[in-house]
Amino acid sequence: MPGGVNSPVRAFGAVGGTPRFIASARGPYLTDADGNEYVDLICSWGPMILGHAHPAVVEAVQRAAALGTSYGAPTQGEVELAEEIVARAPVEQVRLVNSGTEATMSAIRLARGFTGRSKIVKFSGCYHGHADGLLASAGSGVATFGLPDSPGVTGAATADTIVLGYNDLSAVEEAFAANGDEIACVITEACPANMGIVPPRDDFNLRLKALCTQYGALLIMDEVLTGFRVSRSGWYGIDGVAGDLVTFGKVMGGGLPAAAFGGRADIMAKLAPAGPVYQAGTLSGNPLATAAGLATLRGATDEVYARVDHAAETVAGLATAALAKEGVPHRLQTAGNLFSIFFADGEVRDFAAAQRQDTKRYAAFFHTALEHGVHLPPSSYEAWFLSAAHDDAALERIAEALPHAARAAA
Ligand code: PLP
Repeated sequence: MPGGVNSPVRAFGAVGGTPRFIASARGPYLTDADGNEYVDLICSWGPMILGHAHPAVVEAVQRAAALGTSYGAPTQGEVELAEEIVARAPVEQVRLVNSGTEATMSAIRLARGFTGRSKIVKFSGCYHGHADGLLASAGSGVATFGLPDSPGVTGAATADTIVLGYNDLSAVEEAFAANGDEIACVITEACPANMGIVPPRDDFNLRLKALCTQYGALLIMDEVLTGFRVSRSGWYGIDGVAGDLVTFGKVMGGGLPAAAFGGRADIMAKLAPAGPVYQAGTLSGNPLATAAGLATLRGATDEVYARVDHAAETVAGLATAALAKEGVPHRLQTAGNLFSIFFADGEVRDFAAAQRQDTKRYAAFFHTALEHGVHLPPSSYEAWFLSAAHDDAALERIAEALPHAARAAA
């Protein structure tokens, strides 16, 4: 496998060294192939909000597997998962897909089909998966590896992508003034979490929505990462701005490949077979993924969110206290129960600011935490993820490890 991995950020490219090969996971812990145990602060990059191998999720998947793994025909489980999503998020209809990449790619095709326009607006540092037209100034692994874009993505594929600075409303106003009747949609992470956590300024999402409405474009809120994680209703549950289309993934699949996009019924009606915009998938709505997602969403009660919030607040406090004690320049930014730490002083409001950090210090911090049994994300451009399984014992282990990590970063 190139780089030894099947997704780039898993390789320790930004921090150096060899990734741990994981043999099993339970609750807040990962166990590697050599038998070492770590408190997990990646949580599969978001999905595992209940913790690993949660009994209800395991049982639901086992039950589903015994009934057959895929049919290529509709099932009751898909209907129930769609209902669960519609009950929590501001969408009237959803289509299930297999990955966040498919969700954003398909939502953009639908926005173009619905409006009859070609151009899209995205923000630098926002990551929406690896579809060609979205691999321009992207966050996550693209940011971690310092790529402006990717070889293999043609100029033609991104020619209709207008990339603007995040949180820069005047740039959006100018883009609409210049190309208003050609812009099909604006796609934004509801709250960016792939260049580190960079929350929208107070009225940013609201103004985006107003501008889209004014110019007849659609707003696509990408909640693949924040959806069902930062609250029961995702970032929408925090700032209340509904996209015309919304994309979901991660938590809604409970650790299996499931994602979705949804929105207003009149827009979704343009999708095949009801309408002419084509989109399909052999394994979409797969019974195992649907079962894992349903068990996870049904298990994600108010009490679960309270536990995740508490764990996140505790760990963020421990990390900043340890770094402050050692005099390491850093900046904590939070979005509900998601947070990240930039290894630089000063507020980070856009990708350019996020890139002005000391990634070498993060590497020392990361490796020392790992030696002390805490597995942080192997890139300072990624959020730290907690789960409801991060109990006092796990938090205690983090409290013991982080002062060593901070000393190494000093
Ligand atoms: N959108 C956002 C906001 C994401 O964070 C991600 C993945 O991290 C994606 C889309 C792509 O999802 P996937 O990796 O499932 O293709």
